[in-house]
Amino acid sequence: MSTIQVQNFINGEFCDSERHLDSFDPSTGEVWAKIPDSSANDVEQAVKAAKDAFVGWSDTPVQERSKILLKIADILEQRLDEVAEIESKDQGKPLWLAKTVDIPRAVYNFRFFATSALHDLNRSSQMQAVDAFNYTIKMPVGVAGLISPWNLPLYLLSFKLAPALIAGNTVVAKPSEMTSVSAWKLAEIFVSAGLPAGVINLVFGTGPTAGECIVKHPDVPIVSFTGGTVTATKLRIAAAPFSKKLSLELGGKNPGVIFNDTDLDKCIPTTVRSSFMNQGEICLCTSRLYVQRDIYQTFVDRFVTEVKKLVVGPYRSEGVFMGPLISKEHLAKVKGYVELARKEGATILCGDEDLNLSDANKNGYFMRPTVIVDIKDTSRCMTEEIFGPVVCIVLFDTIDEVIQRANSVKYGLSATVWTSNVTTLHKVSHKLHAGTVWANCWLVRDLNMPFGGMKESGTGRESAKDSLEFFTEEKTICVKL
Ligand code: NAD
Repeated sequence: MSTIQVQNFINGEFCDSERHLDSFDPSTGEVWAKIPDSSANDVEQAVKAAKDAFVGWSDTPVQERSKILLKIADILEQRLDEVAEIESKDQGKPLWLAKTVDIPRAVYNFRFFATSALHDLNRSSQMQAVDAFNYTIKMPVGVAGLISPWNLPLYLLSFKLAPALIAGNTVVAKPSEMTSVSAWKLAEIFVSAGLPAGVINLVFGTGPTAGECIVKHPDVPIVSFTGGTVTATKLRIAAAPFSKKLSLELGGKNPGVIFNDTDLDKCIPTTVRSSFMNQGEICLCTSRLYVQRDIYQTFVDRFVTEVKKLVVGPYRSEGVFMGPLISKEHLAKVKGYVELARKEGATILCGDEDLNLSDANKNGYFMRPTVIVDIKDTSRCMTEEIFGPVVCIVLFDTIDEVIQRANSVKYGLSATVWTSNVTTLHKVSHKLHAGTVWANCWLVRDLNMPFGGMKESGTGRESAKDSLEFFTEEKTICVKL
């Protein structure tokens, strides 16, 4: 297969950039795509196109914007198999996962936001005393900068694009330099769906260059970012002089709290998924499991038995559950955490087994799902985001103790609670520092519900209501009667 040449998409046209970056197939370690290494000049052109398109797009009736978004959803759905194949090849995830989760969710994001704004109610109030009538309108903000990560490339990009567009903003988006190919394919769909030129502009490239140019551009008043907590600090600093609106969806170190009265037949398969789906490269994956004393050993034994059955391999291989990690550097980082745990005296219950890879995949970035026990809460493996297929299991005795320990990290993105006692379930859910708590389940999402992180896991929420509020400015108009 020849190397794919990705191009920027600016003002409705595909255009070349001067420099390029290698994009690797993580299952072989070979370059499979060349992507633009966009410069400040590329970003300048994209922002200009988005600014010029803003007047027309923001004046387009929301019903018309909705029709175009629905058309994007329909065409993406028709091309689901093709785009899923690209997403898996680029990111490493199993094809079944891209086909059943990533791309269907991207389709749903466009469909959901296309119609949600049609049902948004503006507020009005009558002020009898001063004989005046107040009402509010929501205005689009302007050119929105959208910056997204590599773990769920199209899923997360579309979760920003759809609300930004339906609200009437125009966009300059930069996907991760490691997974840019599906977004480039999506640009073809924008053209087929009749999206006016300049409404969405895609500039590919690195964070410190293209990303930072977007964040610092004075004509981009609003930035929605999903990525790492450390990167977010740089964004906050870069955006501060401009007083930009910022939405930051960041990392997690999500606890799973499993009580003695848990139905393990339900908990174990779900917790295996919540720990290792997408190679553990989902911000919502559980990475610290607190198991109550009476069931600790049973849980560990049954959990490890299931984990050892997981098939690791390239995205199309038979029965595959986990693909390779995203990059050589990330694999080394994740393995470094396992080595650290070993040096600290922890026990590695599984993860070292042979991968049985074919010659073609010998240089891929694979590792087996790894389970660690006998580890202290203070270990970096228990406090830092690893973002890979590594889970630590520790035991606890009381509710108050586990709440305190689960809340002892700087993150607060999500948590799971497993119990058949409703009082325990609510008590613990109320106390956990987490933007989302899943009780007796994981990753069940309703886009009407706010999504986001507490503490260093982020600022702001995304949902039907929250995203539309973020991508608009609400204005009060007071009329003297
Ligand atoms: P990252 O922070 O390295 O990169 C994210 C994006 O920001 C990329 O497009 C990157 O090019 C860009 N970027 C990097 N430096 C930049 C800069 N200085 N200015 C502007 N843009 C810059 O994150 P990643 O490694 O791509 O993704 C993994 C992280 O994302 C993990 O921490 C994970 O938890 C987090 N994440 C969070 C959520 C959520 O919804 N909370 C979802 C998925 C991933």
